[in-house]
Amino acid sequence: MSRSVPCPTCQKAVEWSPDSPWRPFCSERCKLIDLGAWFSEKHAIPGEEIPVVQGDGGESEPPRH
Ligand SMILES: [Zn+2]
Repeated sequence: MSRSVPCPTCQKAVEWSPDSPWRPFCSERCKLIDLGAWFSEKHAIPGEEIPVVQGDGGESEPPRH
């Protein structure tokens, strides 16, 4: 019973067996490429700045009577 999965990097069919040490990648190269892409993607994410909401604690609000 053999099963194959598409390599996430190059979509090549990879046999899911002990003969494919880099599964689900077809080769170490594809694995590294994928990891590299993941890392560069991480680094490429432009600092999505979350606007800091001021006065969240209500400290700056005038006291209510
Ligand atoms: Zn591949």
